[in-house]
Amino acid sequence: MDFRISVFLREILKITKFWMSALMNVHNPTRPASSLDIYWDLRKRMIAADFGAGDKLKPDELRDRYGCAASTIREVLFRLSCDRLVNFQDQRGFRMPEVSRQMLHELTDLRALVEREGARLSIEHGDLEWEADLTAAHHKLTHVETSISKGAQDYNQVLAASEWQFHRTLISACGSETLKDHYRDVHDRQRLSLVLAAGGTAYRDGNIAEHKAILDAALARDAKLCDELLDAHLHRGLETLKLNFA
Ligand SMILES: [Zn+2]
Repeated sequence: MDFRISVFLREILKITKFWMSALMNVHNPTRPASSLDIYWDLRKRMIAADFGAGDKLKPDELRDRYGCAASTIREVLFRLSCDRLVNFQDQRGFRMPEVSRQMLHELTDLRALVEREGARLSIEHGDLEWEADLTAAHHKLTHVETSISKGAQDYNQVLAASEWQFHRTLISACGSETLKDHYRDVHDRQRLSLVLAAGGTAYRDGNIAEHKAILDAALARDAKLCDELLDAHLHRGLETLKLNFA
């Protein structure tokens, strides 16, 4: 087929798909979010410090926000309680957890253990694509952190997402799906405990230089230095942030 005709047909197909999807949304404008969408949205909001320690999570209020049945919200909250991100008690319902000093230290140690191993393996196996992804994730994170350091407000969600992206990319070339799955769970529990104890995003100015040093060590394939920098970075928040415990 002539090259120009094939490009033309491809463009027509793209435009048709766009309008089909737009029409479907018009005819179904109030389609409620699925329980999986709500689960991930709540999980992201929790680690972005949208809720405080001990806050009650009311299915009726969340139902209005997500436009779904209260039973869907209860199902999601039960699932989050199985992940240990939410507490459930028969008479008290669902609440955000209270954080003890010991729990935060245990979770930080465990996250550091998993992340350091993931980073070591990624430095060993990561290719040019991994280097490019890590550099891009770091570029975005630095931009967000610099904006916050200059006083930008309402960056909680984007900071949590950008920092997650950088740390996840660091371990993404480790070659183990099991390690990556386990990392997500321990990362979210540790991050949630830290923001609940800090009563906010847990942002520190020192993070900018620490993330840059971790990036440089990873790109230089200096596994030993990266390991030391990562361990210090993950534990430094416990020493320098003002934290409140139950
Ligand atoms: Zn970090």
